Amino acid sequence: MAQGIIENLITEIMKLPGIGRKTAQRLAFFILSMPEEDAKKISRAINEVKEKARFCSECFNITDSEICSICSDSSRDRAKLCVVEEPSNIIVIERTGGFKGLYHVLLGALSPIDGMTPERLKIEELVVRMKKDEIREVILATNPNTKGEMTAQYIRERLKPFNVKVTRIAYGLPMGGDIEFADEVTLSKAIEGRREM
Ligand SMILES: [Zn+2]
Repeated sequence: MAQGIIENLITEIMKLPGIGRKTAQRLAFFILSMPEEDAKKISRAINEVKEKARFCSECFNITDSEICSICSDSSRDRAKLCVVEEPSNIIVIERTGGFKGLYHVLLGALSPIDGMTPERLKIEELVVRMKKDEIREVILATNPNTKGEMTAQYIRERLKPFNVKVTRIAYGLPMGGDIEFADEVTLSKAIEGRREM
């Protein structure tokens, strides 16, 4: 019986990315040895994120209310908009402290082969924001890989009718990489070195 429930926990932990059997086993036994209240905090946090997390209706960041904390922060520079692929990218860019504008999350990148067409991304919503917001600069911070580049080029075309400066984060990031894994200094340099496109 005890074997069964531990095995079950190991199986569940192994569903997480980058976690193999050995690590899952170590984590499962660690959880088993934790004080009950600490272990319950983990399970409560998982429950809460699944029950309450939703997308911000403005920028598609993860939030527990209608509008996320960044969009509702009146001290942010509303003239600058940073476009990213995933909500997790916002956390990384925020950690650099180098950007004080707003964000727009695409929820993916263009990849026609995988069926990721422009309609599947929040591109139309970005265009709508261009019409109503006072955005002066759009920084394209999609990943520096093929899909990210294609996405940046596409958005650049879509934004041509608007009187807005479009920049692309540039040097500092390795090509073929993922901004998720960039260190803060590299990412901060990349934002500083953005170029018009
Ligand atoms: Zn938001």
